[in-house]
Amino acid sequence: MDKKAKKLFDGREAVIATMHKKEEVIAPILKSELGINITVPHEFNSDVFGTFTNEVERMGDQLEAARKKVEVAMLQSGLNIGIASEGSFGPHPIFSFAPFNRELILFVDKDLDLELTGYVANGNTNYAQKEVGSFEEAYEFAKTIGFPEHGVIVKKNATTTDQNEIIKGITDVNRLRDSVTTFTQSQPTAFVETDMRAMYNPIRMSNIKLATLDLVSKMNSLCPNCQTPGFEVIEVKKGLPCHLCGFPTNMPLLQINECKKCKHQKETKYPNGNKHADPTYCNVCNP
Ligand SMILES: [Zn+2]
Ligand SMILES: [Zn+2]
Repeated sequence: MDKKAKKLFDGREAVIATMHKKEEVIAPILKSELGINITVPHEFNSDVFGTFTNEVERMGDQLEAARKKVEVAMLQSGLNIGIASEGSFGPHPIFSFAPFNRELILFVDKDLDLELTGYVANGNTNYAQKEVGSFEEAYEFAKTIGFPEHGVIVKKNATTTDQNEIIKGITDVNRLRDSVTTFTQSQPTAFVETDMRAMYNPIRMSNIKLATLDLVSKMNSLCPNCQTPGFEVIEVKKGLPCHLCGFPTNMPLLQINECKKCKHQKETKYPNGNKHADPTYCNVCNP
């Protein structure tokens, strides 16, 4: 990667608002690409900002939640760079039977008055849940999502928000058996789901890494006018002509980058380097 932004950040300290070991993937990238040293707060309880198991309702959307975490972590640490990441899980926007993960990483630098986000969204997730009637059924489910490398959560039922009815971070068979039995002693079923917290979910950790790489590439895109990092694509115009018939396709014809600070804009025609689209993407040639 082109390390253009490194001179702005080299040797600076940043606080990362996490208690789920996300620093294990984020810190090495920010260190090698930007020279930033990462501190993890000892007392930071990110669960008060909302959890996947919904005991605490999530505050606002992903970006707002990340902003609140960063704000608190910066205040507590006295550092001027704060980082937080937020994930969300749900049905795939097109293939609704498949799960989908969106990961966002927020970078705030008070000294440079800068807020940048890295982002990834894909179907690479084991996000799943199941109602089970026995330990054996729970174990079968757990194996399909990658247990025990991936942790699971056992709950009394799908909707409970009572801390006493939710057992998290299960990564061994005996604890899984005990947890399921706790609930199936007094009722026919228990509810098992993937633990989506980063340290219990290596697949999610790999998406957090991709979001971090996206952040770094945005940071290394400097404004040609004022050299501020984060000269981001704000608009893409479709209409790249078909190679065969010349009709406009849905492929990008041009993109516009804008600086968040000085508002300088730059238009780039043929952002993918090609002046024509493959006929596969043409509604006339390939309806
Ligand atoms: Zn600028
Ligand atoms: Zn065509």
